[in-house]
Amino acid sequence: MHEYSIVMSLMEQCEALALEHKATRIEQVELKIGVLSGVEPALLSQAFETFKLDSICHQAKLIINIQALVLQCNQCQQQSQVDERTIICPVCQSNHTKVIDGEDMMLMQLVMDT
Ligand SMILES: [Zn+2]
Repeated sequence: MHEYSIVMSLMEQCEALALEHKATRIEQVELKIGVLSGVEPALLSQAFETFKLDSICHQAKLIINIQALVLQCNQCQQQSQVDERTIICPVCQSNHTKVIDGEDMMLMQLVMDT
């Protein structure tokens, strides 16, 4: 499953950061998941709960923030947050838009115990 490999690399990232900060454990992991990232939050948190047991995150709480799609319109220069998967500007209906957020998954914050 796609989400499993994401969690595996997330754990590696957490372990590297913990090492860097000489932390003994991680208490909280905060993620941003874009609606267009292709990541299913429910599956991701399920995978996290499974994998964390063998890692430095074993006591960590996972917080997922869903990032809506944000479009920048090249026609009317408006920036809009849209609820659906579209590239149409809700202000002027132009399709000359650029996705500026909501496409990626990011590690936002780690709370560590040192
Ligand atoms: Zn527009």
